[in-house]
Amino acid sequence: MTVGSTSLKLIYKEREKEEDKERAIIPNTQAFIEYIHDKKAEGKEINLEQKSSGFMSVISNNFLSIVSTALMLTVVIMVFKMQGLGDKGKVYDGVENKSNITFEDVAGLKEEKQEMIEIVDFLKEPDRFQKMGAKIPKGILLCGKPGTGKTLMARAIAGEAKVPFISMSGSEFIEMFAGLGASRVRKLFEKAKKLAPCIIFIDEIDAIGSRRTSSSGAESENNQTLNQLLVEMDGFESNDTIIVLAATNRPEMLDKALLRPGRFDRQITIAPPDLKGREEILKIYGKEKKFSDKIDIKSIAEDTAGFTGAELSNVLNEAAIIATVNKHEEIQPEDIEDAVKKVTVGLQKTSRVISEKDKKLTAYHEAGHAIVSRYLATSLDVKEISIIPRGFAGGYTMYKTNEDKFYVSKTEMEEKLIALLGGRVAEKVALDDISTGASNDLEVATKLARDMIIVYGMSDKIGPISLKVDDPIELEFYGHEIEDEVGKEIRRLIDEAYSRATEILKANRDKLELVANALLEKETITAEEFEEFFV
Ligand code: ADP
Ligand code: ZN
Repeated sequence: MTVGSTSLKLIYKEREKEEDKERAIIPNTQAFIEYIHDKKAEGKEINLEQKSSGFMSVISNNFLSIVSTALMLTVVIMVFKMQGLGDKGKVYDGVENKSNITFEDVAGLKEEKQEMIEIVDFLKEPDRFQKMGAKIPKGILLCGKPGTGKTLMARAIAGEAKVPFISMSGSEFIEMFAGLGASRVRKLFEKAKKLAPCIIFIDEIDAIGSRRTSSSGAESENNQTLNQLLVEMDGFESNDTIIVLAATNRPEMLDKALLRPGRFDRQITIAPPDLKGREEILKIYGKEKKFSDKIDIKSIAEDTAGFTGAELSNVLNEAAIIATVNKHEEIQPEDIEDAVKKVTVGLQKTSRVISEKDKKLTAYHEAGHAIVSRYLATSLDVKEISIIPRGFAGGYTMYKTNEDKFYVSKTEMEEKLIALLGGRVAEKVALDDISTGASNDLEVATKLARDMIIVYGMSDKIGPISLKVDDPIELEFYGHEIEDEVGKEIRRLIDEAYSRATEILKANRDKLELVANALLEKETITAEEFEEFFV
């Protein structure tokens, strides 16, 4: 929901005819809503009506004072917004919401849903659990990338149990007026107690719940909010039938106090969907789409490994848009393919004028990635190579992905490094010069090499130790020796990958020339066209 305008119009509630009423359209900001709620608490007769977009209407019988105070508040909010201190636009009104989403709307995530069933049962019939002396967790942490369906899952629990769903985002608690964060947490729980049984959903909890520090300013404000949250979590009893669900992508960042027993002591990880999950999600969102008979949902699922639910729904929507723009009667497989590309590599930029020199450089660079990958045992097959810029990339090499994997071996990672460096090496080998075009490859490669050593314990020198730290300074804790060693090991992995890529490209210098020239001529070449060069 977004913040709307600041225009005002009021409704007289006692007037019967709709057109006689005056309606105040107020911006849907938290401060406003709180103000109106406070007025209500004072016994003023006001009705809040939610509008489709970022507006709320106020219906009131003694509106004059409210209008004037509301106007003042508007000014305050505008001033804060100008200073960049206002809310970020997505403000939940804190009004409870009956969720009509059920588990059926959540595709895949079978085990996760299974785990949530006891929560649903508890919300429905708390007595049964209490008689048995069973304690249900008060707080559950849902961990996972954005778009994996954490909010959807929380809503579905509320929908299944038919209880209200109150939601707020962690970022709304901070960057506000001093002290407001904590008071908002208090109000949130007050409201929940009135509505219980119910679900509180706190999105982006890391915004308030990251580790407490002793610093001042915004951080101490943040600490107050976090402390209030801890107090509230401890304050309600497990028979209060309130379940607090919180979502984060970075559980390791959270203050440990939040994870203690009686608080968020249960964690559920929501991973991006596997092949079957993706197929189910695509089926849900495909229902409203006009597909041609040639569309095979399964094969779309195969081509979208690693996509989140949100990205999948995005792909189908983009495909519908592309099909419309292309004046197709129905969505065609190529519309889907374009949409997948758009979501992964960004929008095709045909309008950008590229110099011949840049084109040539990109052609060798991308050909380098593709050829090097082709000679690596564990590398994925090339799907498409292109020198048409997309998003931030000047060109791209796409790989076929049709397998969901949970574990990656050391060899695979080493070969990934080689393939990543293939672009830079090709520039060097073919043009005897290097460019900035490889910066992203180098960033990814260095991060991968680093993770191999400090996260996965894959360096023989350092051994199977996890040196995973949030702040590189923390590595010092292990002594400078280890720190130096990590640096040397990263260097060694990258150097080895670089030499291996150079070997492959020098041995296949002719192929590099052929593929690069084909790219310059056609701009995009398919897997089949690429393979032709190797028969
Ligand atoms: P998160 O809270 O994890 O960032 P959301 O729950 O907001 O993600 O998901 C964003 C959107 O993606 C949902 O509204 C829904 O359209 C879609 N989506 C994500 N996961 C699923 C799923 N498992 N089943 C159906 N739709 C999903
Ligand atoms: Zn590259």
